[in-house]
Amino acid sequence: MTERVIPLLDHRTRSRAPAAAEEAPSGRLSDTRNRSVRDLRISITDRCNFRCTYCMPRTVFGRDYPFLARSDLLDFEEILRIARVFAAHGVRKIRLTGGEPLLRRDIERLISMLAGIGGVELALTTNGSLLAKKARALRDAGLDRITVSLDSLDDDVFRAMNDADYPVAHVLEGIEAAQAAGLVPVKVNAVIKRSVNRDAIVPIARHFRGTGAIPRFIEYMDVGSTNGWRMDEVVPSAEVLALIDAELPIEPVGSDYPGEVAQRWRYRDGGGELGVVSSVTRAFCATCTRARLSTDGKLYTCLFASEGHDLRALIRGGASDATLSAEIAGIWRSRGDHYSEIRSAQAGTGGRVEMSYIGG
Ligand code: SAM
Ligand code: SF4
Ligand code: SF4
Repeated sequence: MTERVIPLLDHRTRSRAPAAAEEAPSGRLSDTRNRSVRDLRISITDRCNFRCTYCMPRTVFGRDYPFLARSDLLDFEEILRIARVFAAHGVRKIRLTGGEPLLRRDIERLISMLAGIGGVELALTTNGSLLAKKARALRDAGLDRITVSLDSLDDDVFRAMNDADYPVAHVLEGIEAAQAAGLVPVKVNAVIKRSVNRDAIVPIARHFRGTGAIPRFIEYMDVGSTNGWRMDEVVPSAEVLALIDAELPIEPVGSDYPGEVAQRWRYRDGGGELGVVSSVTRAFCATCTRARLSTDGKLYTCLFASEGHDLRALIRGGASDATLSAEIAGIWRSRGDHYSEIRSAQAGTGGRVEMSYIGG
C-alpha cells in the first residue's frame, strides 16, 4: 500500500477562524496574545483505575503514590462557584476530566449542579470503563457530550496500554450505552504511539465508520515529566490521515468554531467523520482558549505549565465572588502561554504538571 502525505489544513490562517480579539465582545477577558477564555477543563479526581503507559506509568503511579486526600479536593460547591465565575468571563464549554472522572462519587450531582449554570455546554472525557453502567444517569443529570478514550481494538494491545488488564469489549459497550442514552455524537480519542499502536489507526477508523461516533487520533504528547516521551514515538497527523485515506478516502471539513483543537475530516462516501489532534506537529496555541482547574483547585493556563494559581486557598480563605472573579481575570490577562509553539527548544526539561492531575 502506498502512503501519501496529506497536508493539514492550517487553522491559523483559515478564514473561519478569526483572531480571539475579534471574537471577544468588548469587556470580555483577553490574554496577552488576544485569546479569550472559552473552555474550562476541570479535573475532578487525580485517581484512575487505568495505568496508561503514556499518562500514569505504573512505575511512577504505583501502590505508594501520594494521591490527594479527600479534603484536598475541591468539593462540588467550590467547583460550581469557580465554574460560575468562569462562565461570567465568557466560558461556553466545561469539560470534566481527571484522572478518571467517573470514579468521583456522586458525579451525577455535580453534573446537575453545573448544568444549572445555563449557556454552557457540559462535556466529559472518560476511559469508558464505568460508562455502560453510568451513561443514562449522566445524560439524565444534564451531560451534553462525552469523549471516550480508546487506543486500540486489539484486546492484547489495549490491555497492555491501559496496564490494568482491562478488556476492550467493556469500553465498546460503554460507547454503545452512551449512544443509546443520547450522548451523541460520541467522540473516541486514540493516542497513537508509533511502536505500540500505529496498527490500530485503520481498524479504529473502519470500526466507527457509519456508526455516528467520531474517532480522533491524537499525537502522543510530552505532558508531565514521567512518561519518557520521545519525538520518534509521535505519529504525525499527516501520516495518520494518509494511512486512512489509502483505504477509506477522506476529505477535509471546516471547523465548528475558532479554537477547535481537532482538525475535521470526513469520508468521501458519506460514512461519517474523524479528526486529528496535531498538538506536536502543528501547534494550535494561537487559538487556545482553554483554562484548566486541577483537582485541588489550582488554575493552569496551559497544559504544559509547571505552576498553577491556588484558587482553593482563596475560596477557603473566605474570598468573595468579586475577589475570585478579579483574581481569575488578572491571571488570564497576564497569560502568554504558547508552549507547543516552542516545544522543540524545551522538550525533556521536565518539572511540568502531570496530565492526570489537570486532565487532558
Ligand atoms: N481518564 C480519562 C480518559 O482517559 O479519557 C480522562 C483523563 S485523560 C488524562 C484525558 C485524555 O488525555 C485521554 O484521551 C488521554 O488519552 C489523553 N492523554 C493522556 N496522556 C496523553 C499523552 N501523553 N499524549 C496525548 N494524549 C494523552
Ligand atoms: Fe487514566 Fe485517562 Fe490517564 Fe489512562 S489517560 S491513565 S485512563 S487518566
Ligand atoms: Fe494551549 Fe498550552 Fe497547548 Fe499551546 S501548549 S495549545 S497554550 S495548552
